Amino acid sequence: SGCITSAESVLVAMQSHEELVKVLQENRKLVVVSVSPQSRASLAATYGLTPLQTMQRLTHALKQLGVHYVLDTSFSRDISLIESAREFVERFQCWKEDGVTASVSEPHGMPMLASACPGWICYAEKTHGFLVPYISLAKSPQQIMGSLVKDHLATKLNVRQVDFADQIYHVCVMPCYDKKLEASREDFYNDVLRTRDVDCVISSGELEKMLLDEAVRLDNCSEAPIDTLFAKARMVDGGQQTKLLGTSGTASGGYLEYIMRYAARELFGIRNVDVDAGQGVSVRTVRNADFREVTLQDASGNTLLSFAAVYGFRNIQNLVRKMKTRRAPYHYVEVMACPSGCINGGGQLKPPEHISAKEWIARVDANYRSVSTQLPEENDTVLAVYREWLGEFGSERATHLLRTSYRAVEEKATNPLAVKW
Ligand code: SF4
Repeated sequence: SGCITSAESVLVAMQSHEELVKVLQENRKLVVVSVSPQSRASLAATYGLTPLQTMQRLTHALKQLGVHYVLDTSFSRDISLIESAREFVERFQCWKEDGVTASVSEPHGMPMLASACPGWICYAEKTHGFLVPYISLAKSPQQIMGSLVKDHLATKLNVRQVDFADQIYHVCVMPCYDKKLEASREDFYNDVLRTRDVDCVISSGELEKMLLDEAVRLDNCSEAPIDTLFAKARMVDGGQQTKLLGTSGTASGGYLEYIMRYAARELFGIRNVDVDAGQGVSVRTVRNADFREVTLQDASGNTLLSFAAVYGFRNIQNLVRKMKTRRAPYHYVEVMACPSGCINGGGQLKPPEHISAKEWIARVDANYRSVSTQLPEENDTVLAVYREWLGEFGSERATHLLRTSYRAVEEKATNPLAVKW
């Protein structure tokens, strides 16, 4: 059984690189491709490239094939991080005041559970409905990129004025197949613009296949300047060079790290917490590398914030058991379905034969982390787009465009086309 309706499952099946090639050949739409930093790292490790070279070569190759814009999902992730952190602080304050337990109408209990992994969301909705109110309402980076492209970019390009946001075909390149499921959810159909936020998701491996079918090899390919429209990048050398930027934290997006840093500052006035550097917090490996606890304490050793990162199905089951018996002493949990997180998603490129899976993940991870990091609120382009598109922080428009909702799914209402657990 699955967590999507039959109409949604038809949309999942329609998403493929063949479909993208067809749209490019028809040449009737403005095609935008958003590349996730995890996919970029997977391709970079395979072809021995830096993340910037990979992006420049992808930009060249995809534009040769007829794509109009090649964007970077790190950009919308910054907006997702800011929104998740804001939501966490709101929930924490409510919870402190009333000690409420989460319910569907009052989704602000503790812990807040991450929402960026559709594999985990599907599992929670389908199997453990009681967890749904705990799930963060902030949209994932893919979902926010979807709204940005179909709403903000369309306006910028004047496409929307003629009510043709539908003329934009938006493709996301992602490390996993479950992102196709996320893109197909009814919630990501834009009623006003009458278009889907993301029309097609292809995996990192499917992108490589598409390029090879077109006789493009990234190790032997020209480069083009990256599109800086929605990019986490900075111009250096007097504007001659571009420098890509990332976010501190794990290759699953750095949610735990950023929310901890933001909440320490906003709730307790504690600055410069850095989870990656072990600064200001204590980090403990609980069961294995995929179950970590991160705690913020005051000067007397009292726990102020208790977070966890829980990756992989076995560890998730353990978390669910703890939550059922109310023995999960966390305020926030970054939950990811894949062991080792998104860097190891099922849609990533496979390692060469002589390299072990473990060694390969370490290489892709090192590539992912090889870009310098920058806090989302220090990224001028993110802030400018936020203001231009959404107005003030926390505006009604921001809440409307950056948050979504989840639902417990009755077993009998589910569809046979499903993610298997
Ligand atoms: Fe996809 Fe795995 Fe990342 Fe979840 S953890 S978003 S299933 S790659």
